[in-house]
Amino acid sequence: MSKILFLKLLFIFLIITLASGRIVDDISFHNPQNLAGQMVKTRNSISVEKVGVNKPTPEEEKDPEFWRSVAREQVLRNLEKQKLNVNKAKNIIMFLGDGMSLSTVAAARMLKGQRKNHTGEEDSLSFEKFPHAAFSKTYCANAQVADSACTATAYLCGVKGNIVTIGVSANVEYNNCSASMDPANQVSSIAAWAQKAGKSTGFITTTTLTHASPSGTYAHVANRLYESDADVMSFGQDPATCMDMAHQLVTQEPGRNFNIMMGGGMAKFLPKNIKDFHGNNGIREDGRNLLSTWQAMHPGGVFVSNREELLNVNTSNVSHIMGIFNTKAMDYYAVSDKSQQPSLAEMTETALNLLQRNEKGYFIFIEGGHIDTAHHENKAGISLDETLEFDKAIQLARDMTDPEETLIVVTADHGHGLTINGYPGRGTSILGLNQHDLGADGLKYSTLSYALGPQQFIDEHGQRVDLDGIPRDIDSIYPSYVKSNDGHHSGEDVGVFASGPFDHLFTGVLEQNAIPHLMAYAACIGDGLTMCDDNVEE
Ligand SMILES: [Zn+2]
Repeated sequence: MSKILFLKLLFIFLIITLASGRIVDDISFHNPQNLAGQMVKTRNSISVEKVGVNKPTPEEEKDPEFWRSVAREQVLRNLEKQKLNVNKAKNIIMFLGDGMSLSTVAAARMLKGQRKNHTGEEDSLSFEKFPHAAFSKTYCANAQVADSACTATAYLCGVKGNIVTIGVSANVEYNNCSASMDPANQVSSIAAWAQKAGKSTGFITTTTLTHASPSGTYAHVANRLYESDADVMSFGQDPATCMDMAHQLVTQEPGRNFNIMMGGGMAKFLPKNIKDFHGNNGIREDGRNLLSTWQAMHPGGVFVSNREELLNVNTSNVSHIMGIFNTKAMDYYAVSDKSQQPSLAEMTETALNLLQRNEKGYFIFIEGGHIDTAHHENKAGISLDETLEFDKAIQLARDMTDPEETLIVVTADHGHGLTINGYPGRGTSILGLNQHDLGADGLKYSTLSYALGPQQFIDEHGQRVDLDGIPRDIDSIYPSYVKSNDGHHSGEDVGVFASGPFDHLFTGVLEQNAIPHLMAYAACIGDGLTMCDDNVEE
């Protein structure tokens, strides 16, 4: 009877301080101590944003014929999908939205539409228009809820391992150095399989070159935080027997052959007495300058450290590009110095221009890494903005390539505890408050909230603080139910979206480790089943 029926189940979100801050070193989110929950951070205060009010239902949607025609188009599009693309994939582009839960995808599409001044819910991210999609089960060998290390082993090497480890089987326990260096426990990545087939390879990330997700293409470590020799030593291990990831990337197969490496994290490659291109000292204890090593190994390659240098690369006459655009991870795009740090789309464009020169094709891994980092900070606005930057890079990659020969797969490694909650009206600002419901305490609540995080917005009496009128901006922290140092990953399935040769294999509910095997099948690489096998091809 009342204009809206509300389940007033959720009674949470209550405030003490309002705060926010710049990007923090995201290592803290992923360090093994933190997985057991211990970090404390301080945050600064924030500035103003207007809370959105919902828009009226678009006029055409009141006509049932509108929806029937939307459905008719869907039927026709799905019938089209019966024409299977069974070409051999020359190229593979894998896009990884770190922490890009399905709630993140849905919220990001709303923000995309609302930035065009539409209601938003009806909009789509580029990859949502891909012809085929599946679900991916993200648990790891010893973890119900995964991290970005063991998931990288799954979706890049095709084997599930233990949490915090990368490129090694589940025989390797956390921090067991000797086990990780045993070749019998190391598992190779689809980047290595592609190199064997003569393809060009590489990766791009918005985090560091030695961060967990991209490291799945090249590293074998018992601890994702072995990014430099100093890091290895900080865990009581000897870098002489347990090689750090920066060292592995530059000197070992398959990393040493990568044609493209772009992201942040320059400090891991330089000795502590040398300043990097961003004015900060390196952190290596072994005196190695891995950037010089890389340049000596690749006389036809080019090293770039800012956006202008990247955009000036003549991709027709360089063999390799190493781009490191910050000392630590790159900054959140929304708050970055755009004259210094390129966008994910800009990095993607330069990389593809170079890679497309190889007539045998290429494999590249491209990560939107700060979708996750921002979720850890419960900064939903930043996370959605990063998702839209990721979306732009994917659209560009699809526009630059031919679906007849280039397979693009978009997925996430794991979810995050973000929820889209209540019964907000159509077109309500996805970053604002639900204008159509109150908590049992009579106060409004934000449509987006997290399960765990730093701010419950509860006052000293245990009462929820009134969020209405509290200024917020894209950098603001959203409420969480359980107080924790940061937001945590979630264990529900994530989406897999595919376009190109054998995209129809990406269907159903998949074990995450099947993903690289499906890509390899389409491209006839690796040691598993491929479409080139006589006994499999049909
Ligand atoms: Zn994370």
